[in-house]
Amino acid sequence: MNDLTFLAVHAHPDDEATSTGGLYRLLADQGVRTVLVTCTNGECGDDPEGAKPDADHHDGDLVAAVRAQELDQAVQVLGIDRLIRLGYRDSGMMGWPQNDDPECFWATPVADAAARLAEILLAERPQVVVTYNEIGFYGHPDHIQANRITLTALALIDYEPTLYYNAVPDSIMEVMRARWEEEGRRQAEADAAKGIVREAEGPPTLDGEPLNMGTPDNRIGATIDVSSVTDAKYDALAAHASQIGDSFWMKMSREEFRLAMGIEWFVRVTNPCDLEGNVTDIFAGYR
Ligand SMILES: [Zn+2]
Repeated sequence: MNDLTFLAVHAHPDDEATSTGGLYRLLADQGVRTVLVTCTNGECGDDPEGAKPDADHHDGDLVAAVRAQELDQAVQVLGIDRLIRLGYRDSGMMGWPQNDDPECFWATPVADAAARLAEILLAERPQVVVTYNEIGFYGHPDHIQANRITLTALALIDYEPTLYYNAVPDSIMEVMRARWEEEGRRQAEADAAKGIVREAEGPPTLDGEPLNMGTPDNRIGATIDVSSVTDAKYDALAAHASQIGDSFWMKMSREEFRLAMGIEWFVRVTNPCDLEGNVTDIFAGYR
Protein backbone atom coordinates (compact mmCIF):
# COMPACT_ATOMS: atom_id res chain seq x y z
CA MET A 1 0.00 0.00 0.00
CA ASN A 2 3.06 2.21 -0.04
CA ASP A 3 3.91 4.31 -3.04
CA LEU A 4 0.32 4.97 -3.98
CA THR A 5 -0.27 8.43 -5.38
CA PHE A 6 -3.56 10.10 -6.23
CA LEU A 7 -3.85 13.21 -8.39
CA ALA A 8 -6.92 15.24 -9.30
CA VAL A 9 -7.11 18.00 -11.89
CA HIS A 10 -9.59 20.64 -10.79
CA ALA A 11 -10.67 23.87 -12.41
CA HIS A 12 -11.12 26.31 -9.52
CA PRO A 13 -10.31 26.66 -5.85
CA ASP A 14 -13.28 24.88 -4.11
CA ASP A 15 -13.83 22.18 -6.77
CA GLU A 16 -11.42 19.89 -4.93
CA ALA A 17 -13.71 20.05 -1.90
CA THR A 18 -17.07 19.72 -3.61
CA SER A 19 -16.41 16.65 -5.75
CA THR A 20 -13.37 14.97 -4.17
CA GLY A 21 -13.12 16.38 -0.63
CA GLY A 22 -14.07 13.13 1.04
CA LEU A 23 -11.83 11.06 -1.20
CA TYR A 24 -8.82 13.28 -0.52
CA ARG A 25 -9.22 13.04 3.25
CA LEU A 26 -9.89 9.32 3.13
CA LEU A 27 -6.77 8.65 1.04
CA ALA A 28 -4.61 10.90 3.19
CA ASP A 29 -5.75 8.92 6.23
CA GLN A 30 -4.74 5.72 4.42
CA GLY A 31 -1.23 7.06 3.84
CA VAL A 32 -1.70 7.60 0.11
CA ARG A 33 0.23 10.54 -1.35
CA THR A 34 -2.29 13.10 -2.63
CA VAL A 35 -1.67 15.80 -5.21
CA LEU A 36 -4.02 18.54 -6.37
CA VAL A 37 -3.66 20.48 -9.61
CA THR A 38 -5.85 23.60 -9.60
CA CYS A 39 -5.95 25.13 -13.06
CA THR A 40 -7.32 28.64 -12.46
CA ASN A 41 -7.18 31.29 -9.76
CA GLY A 42 -10.95 31.70 -9.67
CA GLU A 43 -11.12 35.39 -10.53
CA CYS A 44 -14.74 35.04 -11.65
CA GLY A 45 -16.02 33.98 -8.26
CA ASP A 46 -18.09 36.11 -5.92
CA ASP A 47 -16.14 38.89 -4.24
CA PRO A 48 -15.94 38.87 -0.44
CA GLU A 49 -19.08 41.06 -0.29
CA GLY A 50 -20.96 38.62 -2.48
CA ALA A 51 -20.80 40.74 -5.67
CA LYS A 52 -20.93 38.79 -8.92
CA PRO A 53 -18.22 39.20 -11.59
CA ASP A 54 -20.44 41.36 -13.79
CA ALA A 55 -20.70 44.01 -11.05
CA ASP A 56 -18.69 47.20 -11.74
CA HIS A 57 -16.80 47.07 -8.45
CA HIS A 58 -15.97 43.35 -8.70
CA ASP A 59 -12.17 43.00 -8.45
CA GLY A 60 -11.07 39.67 -9.92
CA ASP A 61 -7.53 39.93 -8.57
CA LEU A 62 -8.81 40.51 -5.05
CA VAL A 63 -11.18 37.55 -5.43
CA ALA A 64 -8.27 35.39 -6.57
CA ALA A 65 -6.15 36.47 -3.59
CA VAL A 66 -8.92 35.58 -1.15
CA ARG A 67 -9.55 32.26 -2.88
CA ALA A 68 -5.83 31.39 -2.83
CA GLN A 69 -5.88 31.63 0.97
CA GLU A 70 -9.10 29.66 1.16
CA LEU A 71 -7.58 26.94 -1.00
CA ASP A 72 -4.52 26.75 1.24
CA GLN A 73 -6.82 26.17 4.20
CA ALA A 74 -8.86 23.51 2.40
CA VAL A 75 -5.66 21.74 1.34
CA GLN A 76 -4.61 21.56 4.99
CA VAL A 77 -7.99 20.26 6.11
CA LEU A 78 -7.95 17.57 3.42
CA GLY A 79 -4.35 16.57 4.15
CA ILE A 80 -3.30 17.14 0.54
CA ASP A 81 0.45 16.63 0.22
CA ARG A 82 1.11 18.85 -2.76
CA LEU A 83 -0.89 21.66 -4.36
CA ILE A 84 0.09 22.87 -7.81
CA ARG A 85 -1.57 26.01 -9.10
CA LEU A 86 -1.34 26.29 -12.87
CA GLY A 87 -2.30 29.95 -12.41
CA TYR A 88 -4.58 30.52 -15.41
CA ARG A 89 -7.23 33.19 -15.20
CA ASP A 90 -10.78 32.04 -14.61
CA SER A 91 -12.70 31.95 -17.91
CA GLY A 92 -16.14 32.52 -16.39
CA MET A 93 -19.24 30.72 -17.59
CA MET A 94 -19.72 29.92 -21.29
CA GLY A 95 -20.39 33.08 -23.30
CA TRP A 96 -19.02 35.50 -20.72
CA PRO A 97 -16.64 38.21 -22.01
CA GLN A 98 -13.89 36.70 -19.80
CA ASN A 99 -13.81 33.75 -22.26
CA ASP A 100 -11.86 36.02 -24.63
CA ASP A 101 -9.15 37.03 -22.15
CA PRO A 102 -5.96 35.60 -23.71
CA GLU A 103 -4.70 34.74 -20.22
CA CYS A 104 -7.79 32.75 -19.32
CA PHE A 105 -7.67 28.97 -19.16
CA TRP A 106 -10.24 28.52 -21.93
CA ALA A 107 -8.15 30.62 -24.34
CA THR A 108 -4.95 28.73 -23.50
CA PRO A 109 -3.93 26.18 -26.14
CA VAL A 110 -4.69 22.71 -24.78
CA ALA A 111 -1.24 21.49 -25.82
CA ASP A 112 0.49 24.17 -23.73
CA ALA A 113 -1.36 23.44 -20.50
CA ALA A 114 -1.24 19.68 -21.17
CA ALA A 115 2.55 19.78 -21.50
CA ARG A 116 2.77 21.37 -18.05
CA LEU A 117 0.40 18.79 -16.61
CA ALA A 118 2.33 15.94 -18.26
CA GLU A 119 5.49 17.08 -16.47
CA ILE A 120 3.65 16.95 -13.15
CA LEU A 121 2.27 13.49 -13.96
CA LEU A 122 5.73 12.22 -14.88
CA ALA A 123 7.18 13.57 -11.64
CA GLU A 124 4.39 12.21 -9.40
CA ARG A 125 3.42 9.10 -11.36
CA PRO A 126 -0.08 8.80 -9.83
CA GLN A 127 -1.77 5.44 -10.34
CA VAL A 128 -5.18 7.13 -10.17
CA VAL A 129 -6.16 10.42 -11.80
CA VAL A 130 -9.50 12.18 -11.43
CA THR A 131 -11.00 15.04 -13.41
CA TYR A 132 -14.34 15.95 -15.06
CA ASN A 133 -16.01 14.46 -18.11
CA GLU A 134 -16.05 16.02 -21.61
CA ILE A 135 -18.80 18.46 -20.66
CA GLY A 136 -16.94 19.49 -17.54
CA PHE A 137 -19.75 17.93 -15.52
CA TYR A 138 -21.89 21.07 -15.90
CA GLY A 139 -20.61 22.91 -18.97
CA HIS A 140 -18.19 25.37 -17.36
CA PRO A 141 -15.39 26.16 -19.87
CA ASP A 142 -12.66 25.75 -17.26
CA HIS A 143 -14.00 22.34 -16.29
CA ILE A 144 -14.19 21.30 -19.97
CA GLN A 145 -10.63 22.53 -20.43
CA ALA A 146 -9.50 20.54 -17.37
CA ASN A 147 -10.86 17.43 -19.11
CA ARG A 148 -9.09 18.29 -22.37
CA ILE A 149 -5.69 18.99 -20.87
CA THR A 150 -5.89 15.83 -18.77
CA LEU A 151 -6.69 13.60 -21.74
CA THR A 152 -3.96 15.25 -23.80
CA ALA A 153 -1.42 15.01 -20.97
CA LEU A 154 -2.18 11.32 -20.43
CA ALA A 155 -1.36 10.70 -24.08
CA LEU A 156 2.04 12.34 -23.56
CA ILE A 157 3.28 10.21 -20.67
CA ASP A 158 4.95 6.82 -20.66
CA TYR A 159 2.39 4.86 -18.61
CA GLU A 160 -1.38 4.59 -18.25
CA PRO A 161 -2.95 5.53 -14.93
CA THR A 162 -6.55 4.66 -14.11
CA LEU A 163 -8.57 7.74 -15.03
CA TYR A 164 -11.89 8.46 -13.38
CA TYR A 165 -14.38 11.27 -13.98
CA ASN A 166 -16.36 12.54 -11.03
CA ALA A 167 -20.02 11.72 -11.46
CA VAL A 168 -23.41 11.76 -9.84
CA PRO A 169 -25.81 8.89 -10.57
CA ASP A 170 -29.08 9.88 -12.22
CA SER A 171 -31.05 8.64 -9.23
CA ILE A 172 -29.17 11.02 -6.90
CA MET A 173 -29.13 13.87 -9.41
CA GLU A 174 -32.91 14.03 -9.33
CA VAL A 175 -32.81 14.69 -5.61
CA MET A 176 -29.98 17.22 -5.93
CA ARG A 177 -31.70 19.12 -8.72
CA ALA A 178 -34.68 19.84 -6.52
CA ARG A 179 -32.34 21.11 -3.80
CA TRP A 180 -30.41 23.33 -6.21
CA GLU A 181 -33.61 24.87 -7.52
CA GLU A 182 -34.61 25.71 -4.01
CA GLU A 183 -31.15 27.18 -3.32
CA GLY A 184 -31.36 29.26 -6.54
CA ARG A 185 -34.64 30.77 -5.47
CA ARG A 186 -33.29 31.50 -2.00
CA GLN A 187 -30.12 33.11 -3.40
CA ALA A 188 -32.11 35.29 -5.80
CA GLU A 189 -34.21 36.51 -2.88
CA ALA A 190 -31.13 37.19 -0.76
CA ASP A 191 -29.50 39.10 -3.65
CA ALA A 192 -32.66 41.12 -4.22
CA ALA A 193 -32.68 42.07 -0.54
CA LYS A 194 -29.10 43.36 -0.94
CA GLY A 195 -30.10 45.30 -4.04
CA ILE A 196 -28.17 42.94 -6.35
CA VAL A 197 -30.17 42.27 -9.46
CA ARG A 198 -29.22 39.36 -11.62
CA GLU A 199 -30.97 37.02 -13.95
CA ALA A 200 -32.23 33.84 -12.42
CA GLU A 201 -29.93 31.00 -13.40
CA GLY A 202 -31.82 28.42 -15.41
CA PRO A 203 -30.79 24.82 -15.74
CA PRO A 204 -27.27 24.49 -17.23
CA THR A 205 -26.99 24.34 -21.00
CA LEU A 206 -24.18 23.73 -23.47
CA ASP A 207 -24.44 25.03 -27.05
CA GLY A 208 -28.07 25.83 -26.33
CA GLU A 209 -28.94 22.28 -25.32
CA PRO A 210 -29.94 21.39 -21.76
CA LEU A 211 -27.15 19.50 -20.03
CA ASN A 212 -27.72 16.18 -18.38
CA MET A 213 -25.31 16.20 -15.45
CA GLY A 214 -26.31 12.78 -14.22
CA THR A 215 -24.76 9.46 -15.15
CA PRO A 216 -26.86 6.31 -15.61
CA ASP A 217 -26.53 4.43 -12.33
CA ASN A 218 -25.22 1.31 -14.07
CA ARG A 219 -22.27 3.24 -15.56
CA ILE A 220 -20.83 4.26 -12.18
CA GLY A 221 -17.42 2.62 -11.83
CA ALA A 222 -16.48 3.61 -8.28
CA THR A 223 -18.70 4.38 -5.32
CA ILE A 224 -16.63 5.65 -2.43
CA ASP A 225 -18.06 5.74 1.08
CA VAL A 226 -16.62 8.91 2.61
CA SER A 227 -19.10 9.08 5.48
CA SER A 228 -16.29 8.67 8.03
CA VAL A 229 -14.61 11.88 6.84
CA THR A 230 -17.53 14.18 6.07
CA ASP A 231 -16.51 16.51 8.91
CA ALA A 232 -13.28 17.22 7.02
CA LYS A 233 -15.22 17.62 3.78
CA TYR A 234 -17.55 20.04 5.54
CA ASP A 235 -14.59 21.99 6.93
CA ALA A 236 -12.94 22.11 3.50
CA LEU A 237 -16.10 23.51 1.98
CA ALA A 238 -16.37 25.96 4.86
CA ALA A 239 -12.79 27.10 4.14
CA HIS A 240 -14.08 28.43 0.82
CA ALA A 241 -16.24 30.89 2.68
CA SER A 242 -16.26 33.58 -0.02
CA GLN A 243 -17.82 31.16 -2.52
CA ILE A 244 -19.96 28.77 -0.56
CA GLY A 245 -20.24 30.32 2.89
CA ASP A 246 -23.98 30.73 2.50
CA SER A 247 -24.66 27.69 0.31
CA PHE A 248 -27.18 25.03 1.26
CA TRP A 249 -24.31 22.78 2.38
CA MET A 250 -23.36 25.20 5.12
CA LYS A 251 -26.96 25.34 6.29
CA MET A 252 -26.90 21.63 7.05
CA SER A 253 -26.02 20.24 10.41
CA ARG A 254 -22.97 17.99 10.32
CA GLU A 255 -25.21 14.97 10.66
CA GLU A 256 -27.39 16.09 7.74
CA PHE A 257 -24.22 16.76 5.77
CA ARG A 258 -22.87 13.29 6.53
CA LEU A 259 -26.08 11.69 5.30
CA ALA A 260 -26.28 13.84 2.17
CA MET A 261 -22.58 13.99 1.23
CA GLY A 262 -21.21 10.69 2.48
CA ILE A 263 -20.70 9.12 -0.94
CA GLU A 264 -18.59 10.23 -3.92
CA TRP A 265 -19.11 8.61 -7.32
CA PHE A 266 -16.83 8.20 -10.33
CA VAL A 267 -16.90 6.83 -13.86
CA ARG A 268 -13.89 4.78 -14.95
CA VAL A 269 -12.41 6.01 -18.22
CA THR A 270 -9.14 4.13 -18.58
CA ASN A 271 -8.76 0.70 -17.08
CA PRO A 272 -5.21 -0.64 -17.10
CA CYS A 273 -6.04 -3.01 -14.21
CA ASP A 274 -8.97 -4.60 -16.09
CA LEU A 275 -11.41 -3.86 -13.32
CA GLU A 276 -15.02 -4.86 -13.67
CA GLY A 277 -18.12 -3.21 -12.34
CA ASN A 278 -18.52 -0.75 -9.53
CA VAL A 279 -15.58 -0.76 -7.09
CA THR A 280 -15.57 0.68 -3.58
CA ASP A 281 -11.86 1.57 -3.47
CA ILE A 282 -10.48 4.10 -5.97
CA PHE A 283 -7.16 2.21 -5.81
CA ALA A 284 -8.81 -1.13 -6.63
CA GLY A 285 -6.31 -3.08 -8.69
CA TYR A 286 -3.33 -1.41 -7.04
CA ARG A 287 -3.46 -2.88 -3.54
ZN1 LIG B 1 -15.21 25.12 -10.81
